[in-house]
Amino acid sequence: MENIIESNRGKKQLILNNFKFRIGSSNKGLIRWWCTTKNCTAKVYTDENNICINNTDTPQHNHGEYSCQALKKQVLNTACKRKAIENVSTRPKKIILTEIAQNSNSSDITINDINRIRKNIYENRRKIMPPNPTNIVDAHNALNSIDVKTKHKVKIFYWSMMKKKI
Ligand SMILES: [Zn+2]
Repeated sequence: MENIIESNRGKKQLILNNFKFRIGSSNKGLIRWWCTTKNCTAKVYTDENNICINNTDTPQHNHGEYSCQALKKQVLNTACKRKAIENVSTRPKKIILTEIAQNSNSSDITINDINRIRKNIYENRRKIMPPNPTNIVDAHNALNSIDVKTKHKVKIFYWSMMKKKI
């Protein structure tokens, strides 16, 4: 079964029969994927929906396949990172536990794995968040750039007023 995951560097990868492929060229909706192992020339083709074409044409690898366990951990990591960006206010712990609960075989997930995923969540969120302000002017500028509204769609102008008092 095909599965799209993310590499540690955030690049798209295709998993097929416990082998990993990185994206190559695409032409008229046909995408070529290369094996991620160095010096391996195995390649597969998929359509735009990442569905494998010519499945019977088994690619020839010059190395062994990845363990299911390692791939599952990478799938879990990718899912958590995606959820962390989609739901920026959900606690990392909740995201990780929800994803683990949905994983049919999660007994081999260790504390180290969870710590690594949590670290990845923080790093990913940091990329989409404005940097932490180092002085009061930056803090006000950051707040002014955010269109904060109350439940009743009234823009909060408290911070702008505060700024004038400084
Ligand atoms: Zn290979």
